[in-house]
Amino acid sequence: MEIRYPLKAAYSQKIESLLNALSTDVNDGLSTVEASLRSKYFGLNIYKSQKRKSLWVMAFEQFNSPIVYLLLVAGFASLYFKNQAEAVAIFIVIVVNAMIGFFMELQARISMRALRDMDISFSRVIRGGKSCEIPSEQLTPGDLLLLEAGDVVSGDGRIVLINGLQVDESPLTGESFPVIKTIETLNDDGTAAAKNMVYKGTAVMNGNARVIITAIAEHTELGKISEMVGRSTSTQTPLDLKISKLTKKLIWITLVMTGIFAISGVIERKPWLQILETSIALAVAAFPEGLPIVATVALAYGMLLMARKNAIVKKLSSVETLGGVNVILTDKTGTLTENKIFVEVLSFPSQELDVSIKNGLLEFKKSGIEKSRENLLLLTRIGSLCNNVPLNVSDKDKKSFGDPIEVALLILADAAGYPVKNTTEEFKRIAEMPFSSETKLMCTLHKGIDGFLVSAKGSVESLLLKCKSMQSGNAIGDLNNDERRKILLNAERLSALGLRVLAFAYLSYTERPGDDYLHDLTYVGMVGFLDPPRTDIKDAISACHSAGIKIVMITGDHPMTALNIAKKVGITAADDNKVIAGSELPEIESLEEEWKERILSTSVFARTTPKQKLEIVDVYQKAGFIVAMTGDGVNDAPALKKADVGIAMGLRGTQVAKETASIVLKDDSFSSISQAVAQGREIFQNIQRFVIYLVSCNLSEIFIVTLLGFLADGAMLFPLQILFLNMVTDVFPALALGLGKGDTTVMQRPPRDPKLDIISNRNWLVILIYALIITGSVLLAIYLCKIYVTADVRVLNNVAFLTLAAAQLFHVFNMSSLHSGIAKNEVTRNRFVWLALLLCFLLIAVVYFFPKSRAALNLNLISHQAWLTVLIASILPILLVQLHKIVFKKRVVLGHFSKTDN
Ligand code: ATP
Repeated sequence: MEIRYPLKAAYSQKIESLLNALSTDVNDGLSTVEASLRSKYFGLNIYKSQKRKSLWVMAFEQFNSPIVYLLLVAGFASLYFKNQAEAVAIFIVIVVNAMIGFFMELQARISMRALRDMDISFSRVIRGGKSCEIPSEQLTPGDLLLLEAGDVVSGDGRIVLINGLQVDESPLTGESFPVIKTIETLNDDGTAAAKNMVYKGTAVMNGNARVIITAIAEHTELGKISEMVGRSTSTQTPLDLKISKLTKKLIWITLVMTGIFAISGVIERKPWLQILETSIALAVAAFPEGLPIVATVALAYGMLLMARKNAIVKKLSSVETLGGVNVILTDKTGTLTENKIFVEVLSFPSQELDVSIKNGLLEFKKSGIEKSRENLLLLTRIGSLCNNVPLNVSDKDKKSFGDPIEVALLILADAAGYPVKNTTEEFKRIAEMPFSSETKLMCTLHKGIDGFLVSAKGSVESLLLKCKSMQSGNAIGDLNNDERRKILLNAERLSALGLRVLAFAYLSYTERPGDDYLHDLTYVGMVGFLDPPRTDIKDAISACHSAGIKIVMITGDHPMTALNIAKKVGITAADDNKVIAGSELPEIESLEEEWKERILSTSVFARTTPKQKLEIVDVYQKAGFIVAMTGDGVNDAPALKKADVGIAMGLRGTQVAKETASIVLKDDSFSSISQAVAQGREIFQNIQRFVIYLVSCNLSEIFIVTLLGFLADGAMLFPLQILFLNMVTDVFPALALGLGKGDTTVMQRPPRDPKLDIISNRNWLVILIYALIITGSVLLAIYLCKIYVTADVRVLNNVAFLTLAAAQLFHVFNMSSLHSGIAKNEVTRNRFVWLALLLCFLLIAVVYFFPKSRAALNLNLISHQAWLTVLIASILPILLVQLHKIVFKKRVVLGHFSKTDN
């Protein structure tokens, strides 16, 4: 390969010499073979610094925690005091715990990687003369990249064809005003941001272009900066912060307990070694070792489930926020509707026709086309020319390559027998005013054999403002106010039927017009497209309503179309005709209280601009709502960013929207949002559940150690016994709870405020009660054993340990929701819970039956009677709590998953 790379100053070279230097073609691009060769030669288009943490580092990090340091001290102290068995046991616990942590982190990492793989970006290129989509990482120098509004540029390149291209280069320059690009060769020292170049990471705001790629990966301007600055890897989510706040609280509780214990020990003149040992036991007991990692695993696993249900979460923090969302601002086309568009009505000045396309042929339902043949011809011509769907791809691919409305127009032209290909060859496009949701218009200028032709399409209101005359059959007449009113009324009537209406106009010139060619057009007619609501949408919306989430439609479409669809899908009641059109909305600065209330009480907004979407988000947020907002266009990015949860459409969304959003929907469907909300709530409920479980277990250990210190010194638990419970057996049931399915009422409760702590005051009370019950059961076991079996302190200790172990394991069943059944609930249905219990009981059996491990944990083989006391006492907590559940099934007293407090 003769390419000298990286290329210097591509902006100052003539396009031809650049093409030569890169051995590529301005029309056909690289051949596929050449592209793959180059991809191998130049490497993938990704930054080298995007490296992952090595497994060694991950393994090492498992030992990097204060509790492990403390345990190492305890281990070495045991060695020093010649208690080798205990030292070995402590080291084994440390290693086992590190292994559990390592595999859990690995699992979380695998889930996150799977998630990232679903979120790869694509670029449109021409290879071997054909347009195709490739993963952006395969882009290579010499590729011919196609850009249009909404794209994020995936490599640096020189513009070779341009149509009103405007690019937001703020990632590179910090300047957020769009830069107007040019195709001219520059002599000046353009360096970082030349006007005839586009740069990786910048966003196309307007227009379109073809670009020859000159640099990829770290050779791009942004790549150089990223390599210099390095990437920040810290991603602390609000959940992480809450967990560390909770951990700190527990540490304080421990310190206080340890303090009380140590002072009383000193007063009672207990041996120093005993005070020290018990203090360490307390510290170990209280520290919720498994908490952060179980939370990470639960989060990552839940996110993977969400992704399988078509919602890819890009920002970890959104999972929690999503569960708290109480209003969803959604667009209509494609999210609530199928976005499979069928032509239903053709409306011309002289007649209106109900039509359908069957077997590729246009059929007229009632009357024939005679009076409007000329209009149909013009309309199909405009629809074919003012159209950005590539013709050189198959019919199936067209759907993924273009706006469905434009695909439908090509299908209409074909069905009407219009020669689309010949026409596009005959009328070469020489300029374009691309569609934008602000203007709601698209217009193209073409050079024909004997003149120039302007083709325009757009919303009826916008297009009529650009029209001066109208075509009726072969005659062109004046478009007076009466005619305008008639057309607008017609459009309104069609919209009220739920149709998407698009109007068409044209103008011929003999000379090439100036840049401002969108005026004095001749109106030709309208097409009413049927875009039916998605089949599953009604259920999804009613699920959201019963979950206390308000749904608001904000669309660019006609108010009547919007209202019709809103009623069909259940966003508004059949008799609710409230709709606010964008033109009615005052500027946000002058928004009075009365208007804010009107906005908050209206569920349908139509003909809105992206700026107004942003303003509506603002009104909701100021009123205290947690807002999820959907968007797809390049101009939706600010609103997506502002919303608490920005949701972009994976199929029809622009890359800019996808990069800005915190969630991307793979299938663009609203139902996926409602499922994601349910999953978000489930994840949070799971996290809350295992936190309650772990903390109540930890607290019971603290209580037991402290109380035994005072009441039954000899039966005191040994540090290693607590360590075993806390670092080995507690973790598995907690993890199982973290991976479970939520209870069935998760979407029947109001959303919770994501700003609240994981554990509410009521939850703390519940935790305290659980801990006291478990403590009581251990004391009961000791008491029963002392009265009926033996007063041998070694046996009493063993009974205390085994009762605590079993009671904690059974306690996992207390974690089911108060609303669910006793035998059949989300915990008993969770197979991970059963697996965890099996594993933990096996571990206890192994420790109990092997003399070495038994000795290390100070255990003895105890009598059947002693075992009976263990059994009776350990099932007491579960019996008590389940009894409470039966008695108070309807009244929420002890429950932490109440109607108001999830
Ligand atoms: P939503 O905002 O719910 O996705 P929408 O797709 O109708 O609805 P926009 O894309 O902003 O909203 O379109 C607004 C209007 O612009 C449409 O009602 C239609 O009249 C017109 N329009 C849509 N697509 C095109 C297009 N490709 N070319 C010209 N005009 C269009």
